[in-house]
Amino acid sequence: MSDRYLALAQSPLGRQFFSALNLPAPPRLARELQAYGPQPLAGKTALVAGVPQARHRTTLEAALRGAGASLSGDKPALLLFDASGATGPAELKPLYAFFHERLAGLPGGTHVVVIGRAPASCDSAAEAAAAGALSGFVKSLAKEIGRKGATANLVTVADGAEAWLGGALRFLLSGHAAFVTGQTLPLTPPARSLKPGDCSRPLDGKTALVTGAARGIGAAIARSLAREGAHVIGVDRPQEEAALQGTLAAFDGKPLLLDVTAADAGERIAEAAGQLDLVVHNAGVTRDKLLRNMPEHFWDMVLGINLEAIVRINEQLLAGALAPQARMVCISSIGGIAGNAGQTNYAATKSGVISYVAALAAEVGKRGMAINAVAPGFIETQMTASIPPANRFFGRRMSALLQGGLPEDIAEAVTFLGAAPLSGGVNGVTLRVCGQNWLGA
Ligand code: NAP
Repeated sequence: MSDRYLALAQSPLGRQFFSALNLPAPPRLARELQAYGPQPLAGKTALVAGVPQARHRTTLEAALRGAGASLSGDKPALLLFDASGATGPAELKPLYAFFHERLAGLPGGTHVVVIGRAPASCDSAAEAAAAGALSGFVKSLAKEIGRKGATANLVTVADGAEAWLGGALRFLLSGHAAFVTGQTLPLTPPARSLKPGDCSRPLDGKTALVTGAARGIGAAIARSLAREGAHVIGVDRPQEEAALQGTLAAFDGKPLLLDVTAADAGERIAEAAGQLDLVVHNAGVTRDKLLRNMPEHFWDMVLGINLEAIVRINEQLLAGALAPQARMVCISSIGGIAGNAGQTNYAATKSGVISYVAALAAEVGKRGMAINAVAPGFIETQMTASIPPANRFFGRRMSALLQGGLPEDIAEAVTFLGAAPLSGGVNGVTLRVCGQNWLGA
C-alpha cells in the first residue's frame, strides 16, 4: 500500500508545503538494490577517526579501500569512529568532538559507523563503562540525523573477530542497509577457523531455501539471494502456486509447495533440495485479537507457523541436510521486542525466535554453521496493509527515518546475514531493520 504522506513530502510542491508548515518530512533513502560486486563503496569518500589507542584503524582503512571508498576528499558521506581502545569514559571526548563539528553540514544519506568493544569482554569496569556508552551515543545520534536519511550504527568487535569488519562495513556503509539505523552489530570469531571469502558475489554457487516466498518479504528475499548468485528454492502453500511460480520464474528458482507446519516438512525439504547452504525461515502470519477474545485456533495457528515449524524443520535439517558452513536466518519482528495489545500470540512467536537463535548459535557454531534473525519494523506488505489507517500512520512515522520500510530492506539484511563472506563473524544475533522504530527501542 502506498504511503501518500511520504509521496507528498518528496514531491517538489510538497517539499515547500512541508517546510512552510515545519512538518516532519520523510527523507528519500538511497537504497542499493544491485549486487554487491567487488567495490560496493566506489565513488564514496570516507573519513576515519578514533580515540588515541584505537585498535582497528589500520584494518578499517584497508577494508574501506578494498571496498572502493576513497579516504580523502570533501564532504565525506561515510564517517567512521574507532572508539575500541578507550579504557574509560574520559577517553571518549574525541568522539564528541569528531561528530560535534560535522553535524551542521552533514550530507543527506551519510552513513556513520562507530566501532567499539563488547562491554562483556572488556578488561575493567571502567573500560566497560566507555564501551557501553557507545550504544546510547549511537542510538541518539541516529535519531538526530535520521531526518536527513542518514544512519548511525555500532559494531562491536570481540578479540579475534577483526577480519570480519570488512564484510560488516560493506553492508552498513552502503545503501544495502539504508533502513538499518540505531543498531549494534556484534562481531565474534567463528568457533571453526572460517576465513572471509570473496565478498563480491557472496552467495555464488550456494543453494538457498526461503519459506513464504510467494509474495511480500519472502519474494524480495528470494530475489536478493538469487541476485548474489544463489540457486533459490522457494517454499509456499499449495494455494500460492501461481504466485510462487511468478516470483521464481524471474531467476529460474525452484518451487516447493509445502505447508511448513507439516510434521515431515524438514524431511520433504531435504528430499527436494539436497544439501542446503542457507535456510531462511520467513513464512509467518498474524491472527490478532485481545487475549480475552482470542479463539484457541488463532493461538495454535500463529504458534504453529511462526515458531514451532522453525524449530521442527531445523531439527530435521540439522540431522544431515545442511552444508558444513550452512547459515540459517529467521524472521522475527519488533512486535516480539515491544509487545502489542492484540498480539500475544504473534509477539510470543517473534520473541521466541530471538531466544531460539541466541540459544542455538553456540551449538551450530561448533559445527561451523550460524543462525541469526532479522526483526523487521513496519514494512509495506499485504500484512501491514490490513492494519487500521491511524495505526498505519503512526507505525510509519514513529521512527528515526519517518517512514515504513520496503520488503527489499529486509531482504538486504537477510542476504547479508546469509552470506558467510559478509557476515561470517555474526552468530546468534537479532538485527532490527526498522528505521529505528520507537517500538521497543
Ligand atoms: P505476507 O505478505 O503475508 O507473506 C507471507 C507468506 O508466507 C505468504 O506467501 C504466505 O502464504 C506464506 N505462508 C504463510 N503460512 C505458511 C505456511 N504454513 N506454509 C508455507 N507458507 C506459508 O507476510 P510478510 O509481510 O511478507 O511477512 C513475512 C515475514 O515477516 C513474516 O514472518 C512476518 O511475521 C514478518 N514480519 C513482517 C512485518 C511487516 O511489516 N510486513 C513486520 C515484522 C515481521 P499465504 O498467503 O497462503 O498465507
